[in-house]
Amino acid sequence: MNLNGLIDALKGPKVITDAAAVRRMSRDYYWYSPILKRQLADVTGDVLLEAHSEADILEIAAACYAHDVPLTVRGGGTGNYGQAMPIRGGALLDMRAMDQLLWVKDGVCRVQAGKRLITLDQELAEHGYEMRLHPSTRTVATVGGFIAGGSGGVGSINWGMLRETGNILGARLVTLEAEPRVLELRGADIAKFNHSYGVTGIITELELPLANAQLWIDAVVTFDDLLSAARFGKAFAESPGLVKKQCGVMAPPIAHTYLRPIAQYVRADEACALVMVASQSWEGFETLVAAHGGRIAHDSRTAPATGKRVPLYELCWNHTTLQALKVDPTLTYLQTLLPAQNCVELADELQRHFGEEVMFHLEFTRSGPAISCSAIQMVRFTTEERLNEIMVYHEQRGCRQFNPHVYTIEEGGMKQVNHVQLAFKREVDPKGLLNPGKMMAWDNQDALADI
Ligand SMILES: Cc1cc2nc3c(=O)[nH]c(=O)nc-3n(C[C@H](O)[C@H](O)[C@H](O)COP(=O)(O)OP(=O)(O)OC[C@H]3O[C@@H](n4cnc5c(N)ncnc54)[C@H](O)[C@@H]3O)c2cc1C
Repeated sequence: MNLNGLIDALKGPKVITDAAAVRRMSRDYYWYSPILKRQLADVTGDVLLEAHSEADILEIAAACYAHDVPLTVRGGGTGNYGQAMPIRGGALLDMRAMDQLLWVKDGVCRVQAGKRLITLDQELAEHGYEMRLHPSTRTVATVGGFIAGGSGGVGSINWGMLRETGNILGARLVTLEAEPRVLELRGADIAKFNHSYGVTGIITELELPLANAQLWIDAVVTFDDLLSAARFGKAFAESPGLVKKQCGVMAPPIAHTYLRPIAQYVRADEACALVMVASQSWEGFETLVAAHGGRIAHDSRTAPATGKRVPLYELCWNHTTLQALKVDPTLTYLQTLLPAQNCVELADELQRHFGEEVMFHLEFTRSGPAISCSAIQMVRFTTEERLNEIMVYHEQRGCRQFNPHVYTIEEGGMKQVNHVQLAFKREVDPKGLLNPGKMMAWDNQDALADI
C-alpha cells in the first residue's frame, strides 16, 4: 500500500489525514456485539477522502488501484457489524456530499447515494411520495448505505425486505480498476450490489420505487402478554383494509424497563405493540385493537407518542437494542427470522424457554407471499459459548439466524458463497481493494465449508 502515492495523486477530492478524525470515521455500531467490540477495537483507516462528484470518485478509484490502497466506502456509519470499518486500513470514502435528489417521476426517484434518508423523505413529500421502506436510522443513514448495508425496516410490513424483487430498480456504480468504469445496473443485476457491504463497486446513484405519502399516527398499544400482542401484530399486518407502515411487538418488561420515552405508558408486566397506522385507517385500527383485547395507551394525534418528539420507529428495529443499551450496557442482541407458519406461537414458546435471558422483540414483515416476523431479541450476555448455544437452539426450532456478531457477509446471513457477487467482484475489483476482509469467498474459497 503506497499511501503517500495516493495522497500525492489526488487533486480534486478533499483529503483528511488527521489521525483522530480518521479514527472517528472508522467506527460504526459494531460495539453492540461484545465479540466484535473486542475484535475490532483497534481498527482504523489511514486517510479520509471526501467525494463531491462522480469525477472525484473516478479519480479516487484510479488512484487507489494504482497505489494498492484499500478503499472502504462510508455513508452515515450506522452499520452494526463493522460493515463500514476498514479492517485492513487504507482509505475511507465519505459519500455524504453526494446528496442530490436528481428526479421524481411516476412513483420513482433517482437519487445520489450519499443523501440522508430523512432529507430524501422530506423532499419526496413535496411530490406526494415517501420511501417504501427505511431503516430506523433514517435521520443519519444514507440511501447508499441502506442498500449496501441494510436489509429492511419501517415499511417492510408492506413491501418485505430490500431483497424482494422490485424494491430497488437500478444503480450507477464506479469500478475499482486501472481505468475505472461507470456501470448502470438494473433488473437481475441488482443482486450484484444489494447488501454487498460495498465490496462490489462504489454506488453513486440509486433508482427506487416510492409509496404514496400518508399522514401517519404513532400508537402504543398494551396487552396482557406477549402472545396476545403478537397475535394482534400478525392480524394488523395481515389486514388488507388498514394502511400501515410499522408494527414492533415487545415482550414484558422491555418497554417499561428499557424504552424510556414510552416507559410511562406500559407497565412492567405488560407486552406492547408500537405501530404506525395511517390517519384514514384509525377507526378500523381501534376496532382491531379492541377485538384483540388491547388498550391504546397513547397515540400521536394529540401529542408525540414518546412525549419527547422521538418518532416511535426510533424505538423499533435496532433502535430497541440501542435504547436498552443506554439502560444496561451489558446487554447484547440476536437477529432471527421466524418461520411464517407458526411465528407467533414459536416466539411465545421461545420466550417461555429462555425467560429473561432472551427478551423477545418482534418486527412484523411481509416475507414473500406471507406475513412473518423477525425477532431482534435482547440477550443478557454471559459468554460467547452461551450466545452460540442460544443461536443453535433457535436454528433447531426452525428459525434462520442472521448472526450480528461476525463481520463477513457470508457468516452474517447467507452462510454460502454468493457466486453472483463473487464473479462480479472479479470484474469490477480485480485487486480486491474494496472493503477487504468482508467477503470470505474472495479471501478463501474453501472457508465456507466450515460455517
Ligand atoms: C440504532 C440502529 C438501528 C438500525 N435499524 C436498522 C433497520 O431498521 N433496518 C436496517 O436494515 N438496518 C438497520 N440498522 C443498520 C444500519 O443503520 C443500516 O444498515 C443503514 O441503512 C446503514 O446506512 P449508513 O449510511 O449508515 O451506512 P454505513 O454504515 O456507512 O455503511 C453500511 C455499508 O454500506 C457500504 N456503503 C455505504 N455507502 C455505500 C456506497 N455509496 N456504495 C457502496 N457501498 C456503500 C459501507 O461500506 C458498509 O459496508 C440499524 C443500525 C443501528 C445502529
